[in-house]
Amino acid sequence: MKLKLSEVFFSIQGEGPLVGLPSVFFRLYGCNLSCSWCDTPYAREPYPFFEMEVEELIHYWRENFPRIPYVVLTGGEPLMQEGAIPFLEALVAHGAKPLLETNGSLPIKDVPKEVLIVMDLKPPSSGMEEFNLYDNLHYLTLKDAVKIVLKDREDFDWAVDIITKWHLLDKTQVFFSPAHPFLSASELAGLILETRLPIRLQVQLHKILGLK
Ligand code: SF4
Repeated sequence: MKLKLSEVFFSIQGEGPLVGLPSVFFRLYGCNLSCSWCDTPYAREPYPFFEMEVEELIHYWRENFPRIPYVVLTGGEPLMQEGAIPFLEALVAHGAKPLLETNGSLPIKDVPKEVLIVMDLKPPSSGMEEFNLYDNLHYLTLKDAVKIVLKDREDFDWAVDIITKWHLLDKTQVFFSPAHPFLSASELAGLILETRLPIRLQVQLHKILGLK
């Protein structure tokens, strides 16, 4: 089965529960959303893509990074492609520790349970709030995470309401990230501290390091 890809690269994981760990990234091509502050527009039309078979991708990872179990499927939106789940299943079968980054608008119920899921919830400023698939929240566990990128105070208040309503802090990990350049990490830190809730502030480590 073939997958469409935008890029393949090796870097330090800059976000989420595996932050700081060297990881192999497969950026799958195409996205079903159009966030106002998208930072990867090149992963969708009209930009180019290339295709590889699942077996070729597994071979690439095993040949080049035999000591690196951390394999990230990101996008775009990986779950748009039929081959994404078979690829995750193959990675698990070969001993990888896969991480799926998904925009939260498509069902995650068929993702293998061994896969660590980092799922976005899109706040009002993204323009994509209506596409949040809240049913997905039933499938996340404490190994997984919800990530919310916030542009302003309205987004922040919305996000706190959502995590309270869904008891997310008891079900999964919660990461709040500032949307650059609209909200600074220090402003967001102040807002989080005001809530006295155990929300984790996330900055993009790879960007601080000048990495992809
Ligand atoms: S879901 Fe991600 S890739 Fe798709 S438009 Fe939004 S930020 Fe960009």
